[in-house]
Amino acid sequence: MYNVAKIRADFPILSREVNGKPLVYLDNGASAQKPQVVIDAITRSYANEYANVHRGLHYLSNLATDNYEAVRGKIAKFLNAVSENNIIFNSGTTEGINMVAYGWAMPNLKAGDEIILSVMEHHANIVPWHFLRERQGVVLTWVDVDATGALDPQAVIDAITPKTKLIAITHMSNVLGTKVDVKSICAGAHAKDVPVLVDGSQSAVHMAVDVQDIDADFYAITGHKLYGPSGSGAIYVKPERMAEMQPFLGGGDMIREVSKDGVVYNDSPMKFEAGTPGIVQMIGLGTAVDYMMDHGMEAIASHENSLRDYAISKLAGLNWINVQGTTPDKGAIFSFTMDGAAHPHDISTILDKKGVAVRAGQHCTGPLMEHLGLNATCRASFAMYNTTAEIDIWIDALELAHDLFG
Ligand code: PLP
Repeated sequence: MYNVAKIRADFPILSREVNGKPLVYLDNGASAQKPQVVIDAITRSYANEYANVHRGLHYLSNLATDNYEAVRGKIAKFLNAVSENNIIFNSGTTEGINMVAYGWAMPNLKAGDEIILSVMEHHANIVPWHFLRERQGVVLTWVDVDATGALDPQAVIDAITPKTKLIAITHMSNVLGTKVDVKSICAGAHAKDVPVLVDGSQSAVHMAVDVQDIDADFYAITGHKLYGPSGSGAIYVKPERMAEMQPFLGGGDMIREVSKDGVVYNDSPMKFEAGTPGIVQMIGLGTAVDYMMDHGMEAIASHENSLRDYAISKLAGLNWINVQGTTPDKGAIFSFTMDGAAHPHDISTILDKKGVAVRAGQHCTGPLMEHLGLNATCRASFAMYNTTAEIDIWIDALELAHDLFG
């Protein structure tokens, strides 16, 4: 039985006030709050179990290495990867996608080759591909969403040409909440020998992910949205793609031998992890994914789906709110503007006065904003600990903003 009151009690920050009001935290799409178990894991690591990893000549280093390496199996389980050797640790999705751009795409793509992107990608899944456009003459092909924010998987497959070398696509839009049928896209792309990178930054928080079922070539996740520490993350890479990939960062840990004349790299996945990593951050992320799996991803998704449906029903009563992204089976993410002169920044300032934290701006999605013909939106994004009572407070605060600006 999903007990949201008990879950809320696990997150210390949720009991604080902001501007004299109980905090209503609806900025989870930007970063989620941390349960006490994650805070405790971080404290325990630093207070009692800290040393550098993979330098195991003393007790603490072995202990830290064991704690750190155990996370690889947890993330493999979380994503249902065949093996933990398919999991490369990093600082988050931005680093994961850049690693693929530098390590896999740059050596394997040439001028005129094409990469397909959807118009709703986050800049983290756009800018690394612009590097290839600028530096190697790779062509970016864009696929639009429809008026509801849905992306037709067939439109992505139809955009494939003999020059297409990669599809880089989000699994869930951080603005519209749209879920993308990445499984069908992978099937259609693989039939034409095109690999697929999936940006799982938002989806992995809100639904069970099975990288084997999706058959993704690359699947990136970011720890701070998964109730874990910032500076933690991972990317799943299929063995055949890993074999084609060159290291992106060079340094300690990713090598077996270094001489004046050459280097012998470590085995994968260590080959792709240079330097002292975010040891404690990754240990915190391991605890966070355990926490999510203990509650069950299906149960979390079902709770968030009821929040989504409740929010849709409440917003339907506000005919001066324009919600972007109206597919019914979306994630619990609502980007909106208000009729009249109110700028999203002003709306979010009013909401903040009521203790309601939302995000306002472009959400790192320049091409989507252009497609929507907007400069900015407000975004309320929900998490496993949010409640329908908080939706009511948000709606009341919107009505106040409308009274002031409308
Ligand atoms: N992709 C999506 C869809 C996101 O929402 C985000 C973060 O907002 C990112 C990528 C980038 O994640 P990070 O900044 O943690 O690397």
